[in-house]
Amino acid sequence: MKDYLEKLPKEILDLVYLARDIASSNDMPVYLVGGFVRDLILGVKNLDLDIVVEGSGIKVAEDFAHALNAKLIRHRRFGTATVILESHLKVDFSTARKEYYPKPAHLPVVAPGSLKDDLFRRDFTINAMAISLSSENFGKLVDFFSGRDDLRKKKIRVLHDLSFIDDPTRILRAIRFEKRYDFHIEPKTLKLLKEAVKGKYLERVEPQRVRDDLILMLKEKEPLKEIKRLKELAGLSFLHPRLCVYARNYKLLGRIEEEVSWFENSHFYRRPLDAWVIYFMGLLDCLSPRFTRVVCRRLALRRGEEKRILNAKKHTGKLIASLSRPDTRPSKIFALLEPLSYEEILLIKAEYRNASVQKHIEDFFEIYNGMRILITGDDLRRLGLAPGPYYQKIFTRVLNAKLDGEAPNREVELALIRRLIKKR
Ligand code: ATP
Repeated sequence: MKDYLEKLPKEILDLVYLARDIASSNDMPVYLVGGFVRDLILGVKNLDLDIVVEGSGIKVAEDFAHALNAKLIRHRRFGTATVILESHLKVDFSTARKEYYPKPAHLPVVAPGSLKDDLFRRDFTINAMAISLSSENFGKLVDFFSGRDDLRKKKIRVLHDLSFIDDPTRILRAIRFEKRYDFHIEPKTLKLLKEAVKGKYLERVEPQRVRDDLILMLKEKEPLKEIKRLKELAGLSFLHPRLCVYARNYKLLGRIEEEVSWFENSHFYRRPLDAWVIYFMGLLDCLSPRFTRVVCRRLALRRGEEKRILNAKKHTGKLIASLSRPDTRPSKIFALLEPLSYEEILLIKAEYRNASVQKHIEDFFEIYNGMRILITGDDLRRLGLAPGPYYQKIFTRVLNAKLDGEAPNREVELALIRRLIKKR
């Protein structure tokens, strides 16, 4: 795999060479593993270096961080460490380990092991390859489970029959990789997956672990494909017994994809967008606010995430009458949309295809949301107004006038505040 490694961006290749040098000075075999190896062979960009050490992952990570003067986070209990570089690149180190699952769907018991043990505990053959970084066989592919052949044949295959029962979150991971790479879950793996679904093993997993994999799914490029396959293979009752997705929900999810890409291709946004939250809103569309809250709480979503998801359920209906009228004034549109999260606004845009709703929301993002008034607190002070809560009221009135096209320049803004002060 040397030739593959040499094609890496220089910054990454330098890190690989550094790991090799540290491995040889510590006399510990060191390997690149997991998704990085998979993507290297596929030619897909992946900057998350994942390194396994037969010996001590923490010791190699310490030397690595020291050499780069980088930040190191150790997890001694797990024998793992993460080095975070100034460039925000992240390198994960772990000590080779074996795992066994005393109870299905619960966390495994872990003990030090060989590279082969470490690869055998992984989810799929395509994620269970390693590349040696030791000087004597630098670049050699270690592939005990024919992962490379499965990559070639585009197959998702588990490493043993109990894989989905040990860790049912692999059901979500199988679907995620299948749809991401346009692979297929090979027949025996599919059979094992369906048996685990039938045995309701997903319901036994700690909900936060389901949440993490579900969020990763919704962060993929085409979440609609993922959700369709999830429904087909696992159903959705593991999230809530009443959760159902019909043709109209798929339609909504498809529109959400369009709106997210519209938003991301424009450059007017001022806050980052959590696109997965909108897909999650779409996914839970058929649930009442009460059951939606139950799902959010069970999955222990963050407070801000839960709030956005519930707000979308409760409040959007009330805004639609005003948004649907072509003659609603910009100041009114701004007042309605400004308190909402971007995720809620884009959900409305996906849900209501009425031309006025579309136009008002586009104007909100493109024009109103960035509009600033020209007068400042200094202007108000100069006009003799003592600082206080009234300032905010004046600013709002001036901004509304500007939004409605009634205050095109600073002079008109000043004239307006003079009138407002007089009326007080
Ligand atoms: P992505 O490209 O989405 O980041 P990844 O394969 O790098 O995918 P991670 O979640 O970062 O995925 O996991 C790194 C590696 O750890 C995987 O490639 C796989 O070998 C292993 N792994 C992760 N989750 C599991 C799991 N639930 N069961 C077994 N092995 C896992």
